Amino acid sequence: MPKIKLKSTIVEIDGDEMARIMWQMVKEKLLLPYLDMNLAYYDLQLKKRDETWDKVTLEAAEAIKKYGVGVKCATITPNKDRVKEYNLKQEWQSPNGTIRAALDGTVFRAPILVNNIPPAVRSWKKPIHIGRHAYGDVYKNCEYRVPEAGKAELTFTNSAGKEMWRGTIQDFKGPGIIQGIHNTDKSIGSFAKACFTYAYDQKLHLWLGAKDTISKTYDAQFRKIFEEEYQNNWKTKYEEAGLEYFFTLIDDAVARIMKTEGGMLWACKNYDGDVMSDMLGSAYGSLAMMTSVLVSPQGFYEFEASHGTVQKHYYKHLKGEKTSTNPMAIIFAWTGCLRKRGELDQTPEVVEFARKLEEAALETVEGGVLTGDLMLVATPDPKNRQVYTEEFIAEVANRLKMKLE
Ligand code: NAP
Ligand code: MG
Repeated sequence: MPKIKLKSTIVEIDGDEMARIMWQMVKEKLLLPYLDMNLAYYDLQLKKRDETWDKVTLEAAEAIKKYGVGVKCATITPNKDRVKEYNLKQEWQSPNGTIRAALDGTVFRAPILVNNIPPAVRSWKKPIHIGRHAYGDVYKNCEYRVPEAGKAELTFTNSAGKEMWRGTIQDFKGPGIIQGIHNTDKSIGSFAKACFTYAYDQKLHLWLGAKDTISKTYDAQFRKIFEEEYQNNWKTKYEEAGLEYFFTLIDDAVARIMKTEGGMLWACKNYDGDVMSDMLGSAYGSLAMMTSVLVSPQGFYEFEASHGTVQKHYYKHLKGEKTSTNPMAIIFAWTGCLRKRGELDQTPEVVEFARKLEEAALETVEGGVLTGDLMLVATPDPKNRQVYTEEFIAEVANRLKMKLE
């Protein structure tokens, strides 16, 4: 069978540890035998980032801007232990953070659903996608431990040095705490654009939750910017596509989500997104069944798995032990990327390949061929058997081969 040729380049961003090992296997067994791909390859394993003073990370982000579509393997975000382990020049920033900032992007996560792993919430039939505004609020705060009685104020001085505003936070009678947080119209605007773009692209309703009844200026600004973006750029398109944009209070959103069938994009403020994406991840079964895509307001896409480098499994692998690590999210990062490339290039055969590979992977899990993490959450069945990583990928490869013949 001749290989399927991709019209344009995909940016491939390699990573670390067990995720890197699985990445290689997925490419070798599931992609390269069938696809003729032009890959712009960037190796972001920690050693390479250190060698290049992290320039390679910025180059990878630039490449995504150039080619439009990329796929990324999980990478180590160094901490003190990693600095020692890899003898690093410094504690480099999170590559995901660097790429996200360079693309001004928003991260969307979605579960991979299979019929033998029922979600913890019975009513959920379709994936709930989550979009987290990953800028500002409590993550870029300024806080102070108030040691004694006194007055705390909030002031704003404009760039010309003129005090424009002053408000009392609290007249403290004794010790306490204060915190200042911020966001910018620009960042909220990019977030809104990315959310409307993604939801439209994926044919999902869009929900936004915030607390504008309590926070009449701060949270109200999120609501206002989303509403403007909707009215100015999306209303007609959404109505034509039968899609809805829905704003509600965050607590109402949480209550309603529990009763829906799913099938929406839930746009969350930074903290809500941090908390709710972990809740959704575990409610759908396993972190290894969550995909993630970074979307920029210009419509650049970077696909990845939600999970990290799976360090504990990697150390076992290094000792020569076999691991039962789940490559589903990595497979789906590639299929997401291939589907998007195919859509942009108008090459239906590439989109079709992505669909078949996803089908092969889903059928593998539904057929009871399971990695360790899934054994714990799958509906018990005599046909279930736990397999090693290589065996799992080999099963997917067999099914894929049959579909392509
Ligand atoms: P992790 O790699 O996501 O793994 C945490 C645990 O979740 C694993 O020990 C494993 O549990 C389970 N798990 C995750 N993915 C799995 C898979 N594919 N198959 C089976 N089990 C899976 O998170 P971490 O251990 O906290 O972080 C390790 C490194 O990843 C860190 O250096 C961190 O900086 C990096 N990280 C990178 C990204 C990214 O690049 N997108 C995201 C998160 C973390 P058991 O051990 O119980 O089997
Ligand atoms: Mg979290």
